[in-house]
Formats: sequence, C-alpha cells, structure tokens
Amino acid sequence: MSAAIRDPEIAAEDPFGIDPFRFCEGRLSDAAVAALTGLQRTLDERVKPLVNEAWDTATMPEGVIGALAPLGLMDPEGVSREEADSSLFKGLRTYVLARTDVSVATVYNAQAGLFRTTVRQGGSPEQVAELDPLIRDFGLTGVFALTEPDHGSDIAGGLATTATRTGDGDDAEWVIDGHKRWIGGAVGADVLAVFARDTADGEVKCFLVPREAEGVKIETITGKVSLRPMQNADFTLTGVRVPESARLARVNSWRDVAAIMGTLRADVAWIAAGLQAGALEAAIRYVREREQFGRPLAGFQLVQEKLARMAGNVVASLGMVIQISELQDRGVFSDANSSLAKMWVALRARETVALAREVAGGNGIVLDTDVARFFADAEAVYSYEGTHEITSLIVGRALTGASAFV
Ligand SMILES: Cc1cc2nc3c(=O)[nH]c(=O)nc-3n(C[C@H](O)[C@H](O)[C@H](O)COP(=O)(O)OP(=O)(O)OC[C@H]3O[C@@H](n4cnc5c(N)ncnc54)[C@H](O)[C@@H]3O)c2cc1C
Repeated sequence: MSAAIRDPEIAAEDPFGIDPFRFCEGRLSDAAVAALTGLQRTLDERVKPLVNEAWDTATMPEGVIGALAPLGLMDPEGVSREEADSSLFKGLRTYVLARTDVSVATVYNAQAGLFRTTVRQGGSPEQVAELDPLIRDFGLTGVFALTEPDHGSDIAGGLATTATRTGDGDDAEWVIDGHKRWIGGAVGADVLAVFARDTADGEVKCFLVPREAEGVKIETITGKVSLRPMQNADFTLTGVRVPESARLARVNSWRDVAAIMGTLRADVAWIAAGLQAGALEAAIRYVREREQFGRPLAGFQLVQEKLARMAGNVVASLGMVIQISELQDRGVFSDANSSLAKMWVALRARETVALAREVAGGNGIVLDTDVARFFADAEAVYSYEGTHEITSLIVGRALTGASAFV
C-alpha cells in the first residue's frame, strides 16, 4: 500500500484508490504523471465545458482535438518511448479521458489506438518510421475501417470488401470495392485504413486509402442515441485505386487483424473502466447536493447500497484493466485476455451507469447531471470492438477448446 493511501485525509477522499493520480504513484515516472495531470487540467478547463452541448447537438467541437492534440500525449515530453508506449500509460490516459467523456475518449482513441496501432502493428518498419511521427502529432489522421453493413460480428469470415492487384513493379496498384459501416471519424480523417479481401489469395489485407480518393463516398450516420458527438460514417468504395505502397505490409491474413484487435480491445476495456469512474463521481456529487425528506440523498441507506455496488464495479474493473496492461507490458498479448477484459468491464459499466442514473432520479435523464451522458454512451462501448456475445465466445473457446461461434 502506498503512503498516500494510508494517509487518513486522503483515504477519506479516495478510500478505494480509484483516483488515477494516486494510483499512478510509484507505477509511472514523474514525467508521465505530469503528462496525465496536464491532460486532466485541459479536460477540466477546456473540454468538460463543451461536452454536454456537444452531446445535445451531436457535433464534436473542433476545440476538443484542438485542445488535446498539442499536449503531445502519444509522445509526452520527458517520458521515455518505452513508457509512452506502455499499455499502462496508454490505459491510464484513456481512463482519464473516459472519466470526463466517452465520446472524447473514443475520438482520441480512434487516432491514438485504432489507427496508430493498425499502422504500427501492420506497417513495415519503413512505413512505421514514415507515418508514426505524423500520426503522433495529428499531422496525419486516420480511422479503422473493418465493419461492413452486412458483416459485423461475422466479419472474420464474412468480410466482403475486395482488393484486386493490377500491374507489376512500380506500376502495381490495388483496386478496392466494397462498403464499410460505423467507421468512427471517417468524415474528417485524412486516410481510411480499409480492410479488404485479396481476390487472388482470399486473405484480408489493409490499405491506407485517402479519404478524398476517387470512388470513395462517405455518409454520416445520424439519429444515434449513444456517443452522439462522435461522427460515425458509412462509406462505399467503387473502383478505388491505391498504389502498392498504400498497403500495410504486415497485414497478410485475418490472424494479423486479430492480433491488432487483441491490443485494441484492451483499450476499450480501459474506456469502460474510466466511464464508470466518471459516472460514480457524478452520482456522488448529485446525491450530496440533492435533498429529500429533509436530508441529502447521500444519507439514505438504499442510495449508499447503490453507490457501494458502483464503487465495487469501478475497483474490480480497474483491477482487471491493470492486469491486462501489465500482461501486455510483459509481452503477453492474447485475444482471449483482452476479450475477457472488454466483455467483463463493459458489462460492469452497463450496471454502473444504470445505478448512477437511478440515484439521480428524474434528473438522471437530463444532461446537466452528467450521469445521463455516461448512461447513454455505455451502450456503444458495450457493442463496439466485439459485442458481449462475441467476446464471450472468444473467452469460451479459450476455456473449453470448443469454438461455438456458429
Ligand atoms: C458507436 C460505434 C462505433 C464503431 N466504430 C467502429 C469503427 O471505428 N470501425 C469499425 O470497423 N467498426 C466500428 N463499429 C462497429 C462495431 O465493431 C460493430 O457494431 C460490432 O462489431 C457488432 O457488429 P454489428 O453491429 O453488425 O452487430 P451484429 O453482428 O449484427 O450482431 C447483433 C447481435 O447479435 C449477436 N450475435 C452475432 N453473432 C452471434 C453469435 N454467433 N452468437 C451469439 N450472438 C451473436 C451480437 O452479439 C449482437 O448482440 C462501431 C460501432 C459502434 C456502435
């Protein structure tokens, strides 16, 4: 136990050690903690004031990435490359973001998680050396385009977007045709990392397609009731031509895509943990202020029982995401591990946000109390990057050796 947690005053403020900054002590360098503290300050001062209106109007204000990008959180000053790339640092960064707002965390993760991981794990050393510095400072923005209108959970076998190689040598090109759905950030990104099946060998490959390439048609999905400020899009690719150099050299089969997703699912588990911390904080704030029967809601036994369940969920979720990050930082990446974390923490998140919404009564469904946002946004997290059922089946297969997907 750290000295900070033994301190009676601090123990009263954070009795279960779920404040990420206390938690960082002894685990991250001073420079890394300073980077996260700077992030929290920026979120409080420049992002938090924007999030409810952004949700209401279903628009992501430019000020959000405008505030976050200059912080250089993918390569923070004074932090070693190894630590900046550690799963623990990246996880805590995600936790801090999601504790403020899930759409903001998801938008940031689209670049720093989905796109960057795809390029770093899928690109040749030369591609990574060229692109990663641009990605880190948002000089090149991108998205992860895997899901299709007719293939969500069964994308591994069902992926129908095709890529056909034409020409040889310097003239070699790929022609891509197909449809993608739900792609977060596609409307404004510079490039779309499109997964497509090679018509020659039937394997899944990945191509960096400029958003403005001829034959790309993008349409924003409207009418969402979760993650409203996050712009998701459907797009079609009709005879889109890209050079051989646009193909990520180390994505040569579904196995390579699954390895990328193994990393990404752990990021989503951290989002699901962070959003629970935000919902708990908002709920506690509310029940301390709101009075009924002549006393604050916080003093009622049944309200405290709900808060205790929420706190239990947050602590247990944090324990699980730390465990998965520590494994990844030891070089242990497994689809089953990250699926278990994503499945279980997102399930707990759904319960936590429902309890938060419950203790706020009628005000729990308006944006002002903050809990409504977490309540609605947890639904998207529950489904994206592997639904509850699909991640459970991955875990079940690891436990039993029997695949039960179909
Ligand atoms: C907000 C949001 C953002 C997203 N961002 C991206 C993105 O940036 N890039 C991207 O590529 N994708 C993205 N997605 C897509 C996401 O990953 C898919 O929605 C998800 O994989 C589920 O696919 P589906 O929605 O087509 O559901 P379906 O596959 O149609 O599933 C519907 C239901 O059936 C269940 N089901 C399916 N098969 C089985 C089975 N064998 N056994 C039991 N139950 C089963 C599912 O679990 C689910 O409950 C995003 C989705 C959302 C909602």
